[in-house]
Amino acid sequence: MKNFHKKFENDRFDLEYDVDGLVYKINSLELQKRLGFTANSPRWAIAHKFSADSAYSQIRDISIQVGRTGALTPVARIKPVNIGGVVVSNATLHNEDEIIRKDIRIGDTVKVERAGDVIPHVILVDLKKREKKSKKFIFPNNCPSCGAETIKEFNKTTKKHDAVRRCTNEGYDCEKIAIEKIKHFISKDAMNIDGLGKKVVENFWDLNLIRFPQDIYNLDYDKISNLEGWGDLSVSNLKYSIDQSKKVSLDKFLYAIGIRHIGIENAKLLAEHVKSIKNLIILVNKNKLNEFLDIDGIGETQINSLKTFFEKKSNYKIIEKLSSILNISDLKLNKDGKLLNNTFMFTGKLSNMSRAEAKSLIEENSGSVVSSVNKKLNYLIIGEKPTKRKVEEAKKLGIKILSQKEWLNLLN
Ligand SMILES: [Zn+2]
Repeated sequence: MKNFHKKFENDRFDLEYDVDGLVYKINSLELQKRLGFTANSPRWAIAHKFSADSAYSQIRDISIQVGRTGALTPVARIKPVNIGGVVVSNATLHNEDEIIRKDIRIGDTVKVERAGDVIPHVILVDLKKREKKSKKFIFPNNCPSCGAETIKEFNKTTKKHDAVRRCTNEGYDCEKIAIEKIKHFISKDAMNIDGLGKKVVENFWDLNLIRFPQDIYNLDYDKISNLEGWGDLSVSNLKYSIDQSKKVSLDKFLYAIGIRHIGIENAKLLAEHVKSIKNLIILVNKNKLNEFLDIDGIGETQINSLKTFFEKKSNYKIIEKLSSILNISDLKLNKDGKLLNNTFMFTGKLSNMSRAEAKSLIEENSGSVVSSVNKKLNYLIIGEKPTKRKVEEAKKLGIKILSQKEWLNLLN
């Protein structure tokens, strides 16, 4: 594969189209089925990119973008330059630490790299070309959108401060964050409102038509049909796709509201656990979000993020409003599998099977996998070299202990 990759990388310039790499795939449909998918991609295919193209250019300015989670990303506005056939005029500088480490300044001549769909980034400064009067770039301490204080969060796991600086105004009080949150809400994997693109969201924001996600369901269509670029057909298409989005599954909805650290996969786990939006609101009101710690895959980071989210009255109100407008259906669970209402936990290495495959096998059969030994656990499945403590705890609680073979027999 490596030899083929090398040869193809050299030959690619003779092609009539742009390629940025190769994809290797498992050439057995049977094995592909067993490997399955992660939230974003198949486990049976992997990309191998070609090395990137690069060019030198000068930084005209550095601006700070504010993302959906409040992250401040510095972007270099560079003199337009052709890199591998594409004209590049913006390059990311990643974060504050990166600017300090490379001492990147306005006016500097820098090497910019571009590979495929990835955003071009600055890799080094040509110090020989630096002007004598050039000054260090000072990263702002306040959010350029709302003026709030910014912080670098402390990561308990790595015991270090984050490299990313964030606006502390998490929520809809910061204009840039609010716009990004609404763009996320309508995106394909979330509410999937395809008549309402990112540009339209920005436009509607400027016209004061939207401030919160729920405003999407209360648009003034008469006003919109009088706007430039809108006709009867496009307005009725917009209305149609907004109406269509009102019917949504719980997991998609939980992903759409954009709680930090709750991606597609985690939203699914939460939805499977709470089963309905009502139950979630009850848990929030009773201060019982800690029970999510039982879910395999949900940890303290996610719980804390959920707590922070719901502590904000405005967020709580958005959920209430949206759940009265939308028809949020419970997660479709396979309810006729052999393992229905049974919980499992693994310890030790399984033979001929990955943990991910074992987990999806249980879920396909309506069972669920948990992450700790407690009274709610029905079966502990033991592989090679199990954790002693878990086995002993299970014995104490009278939980059934199965070997991998015994477990597979349950399925047959
Ligand atoms: Zn802000």
